Amino acid sequence: MSEEPGGGFTLDLSDDVREMRDWVHEFAQNVMRPAAAEWDEREETPWPILEEASKIGLYSLDFFAGQWLEPTGLGTPVAFEEIFWGDAGIGLALTGSCLAAVAVSSSGTPEQIGEWLPQMFGSPGDVKLGAFCSSEPDAGSDVGAIRTRAVYSEATDEWVLNGTKSWATNGGIADVHVVVASVDPSLGSRGQASFIVPPGTRGLSQGQKFRKHGVRASHTAEVVLDDARVPGRCLVGGKDRLDARLARLAGGQAAGEQAAMKTFEASRPTVAAMAVGVGRAAFEYARDYATQRVQFGRPVGQNQGIAFMLADMQASVDAARLLTWRAAWMARQGRKFTRAEGSISKLVAAETAVRVTEQAIQILGGNGYTRDYPVERMHRDAKIFTIFEGTSEIQRMIIGRAVTGLPVR
Ligand SMILES: Cc1cc2nc3c(=O)[nH]c(=O)nc-3n(C[C@H](O)[C@H](O)[C@H](O)COP(=O)(O)OP(=O)(O)OC[C@H]3O[C@@H](n4cnc5c(N)ncnc54)[C@H](O)[C@@H]3O)c2cc1C
Repeated sequence: MSEEPGGGFTLDLSDDVREMRDWVHEFAQNVMRPAAAEWDEREETPWPILEEASKIGLYSLDFFAGQWLEPTGLGTPVAFEEIFWGDAGIGLALTGSCLAAVAVSSSGTPEQIGEWLPQMFGSPGDVKLGAFCSSEPDAGSDVGAIRTRAVYSEATDEWVLNGTKSWATNGGIADVHVVVASVDPSLGSRGQASFIVPPGTRGLSQGQKFRKHGVRASHTAEVVLDDARVPGRCLVGGKDRLDARLARLAGGQAAGEQAAMKTFEASRPTVAAMAVGVGRAAFEYARDYATQRVQFGRPVGQNQGIAFMLADMQASVDAARLLTWRAAWMARQGRKFTRAEGSISKLVAAETAVRVTEQAIQILGGNGYTRDYPVERMHRDAKIFTIFEGTSEIQRMIIGRAVTGLPVR
């Protein structure tokens, strides 16, 4: 028997995580929330807010890496919940670089991590961005259908990239792009690798910028690669590792995990935490409104119809958070998601955020439907969580495979 209080099990956050949470919350409340409606309307990257976040060290490699490495695993989900509680559009602008950083840190060499990650965040007065470009017009859920090609030039020790990427967060405005490309199309997703495209690389340009339903302060665009040449050292993980993987495949052996999949796997509890933040924000707003708004001579929250809705909202946000913390804790302890725990957290949190934000509009009635109140924006923002980083259907497919052991399609 463990001598520790609670038998060694605890849901108490460490002092460090609690302190960090309160610090991020203050920024979310005082800087992000007052600016949320404006940047949603402008549909632009909120550079002044990134700059302010950089100045206090919130938008920095140090901060995000520190939370990623926090020993309990709860640093990142707690930070992301607070940021997205502040605002999802600005939140995505603040965290969009992390996906590119995870792509390099999860599969890159120590030299690549040391060289490129700092260039994805920059420093106060010189803020920089990263973008992770996997999706293409004809390859969203079906990552194996990626057509962007990477061809190695032995003569110059360069990779030559050609193709069009779609829906890339920070695409075209990032300093460092991480691009998933096929080195051997006959192998489908197993013949893919990720490439770092350094700042100012000729041949990389922004295509159309998308006008979106929600998370509008986050820039989403096509990225066009037209004979973009990157040095050999920009192949994530290095050429020796790629050659060894391709040789294993040629010999009929398993190739190990593919880099883009590793990136998505690692980031799922983080995306779940974003959704928890939006759901909690909408719940809190609706709860407070329901205690103030009077109809029939009593607060609307006194009606069971509304109080029960609020009860369901609180219960489902809490459930989503617990699933998120479980997955984040498992990932940090190096446990494998044998029952698709990462996908479970993302699926439940995303669908909770959509439902809870819709209920919040219902509780606010006509006001909820207008842009004078924040819940309609939260509802528009929440929808992205059932779409990016694997749609809800794809998460169900992964969970379905894990629970049945069958090749569910
Ligand atoms: C705001 C935003 C930001 C994004 N940021 C990035 C980014 O930074 N980097 C990046 O690479 N991508 C990014 N994406 C792309 C995103 O990951 C894709 O949109 C997503 O993976 C879905 O692909 P798709 O849009 O092509 O939909 P499709 O794959 O065409 O799916 C269409 C519908 O069919 C369903 N479906 C597909 N296959 C199956 C199946 N086998 N079984 C059941 N249902 C299925 C889907 O669930 C969906 O409902 C972003 C997208 C948006 C909107």
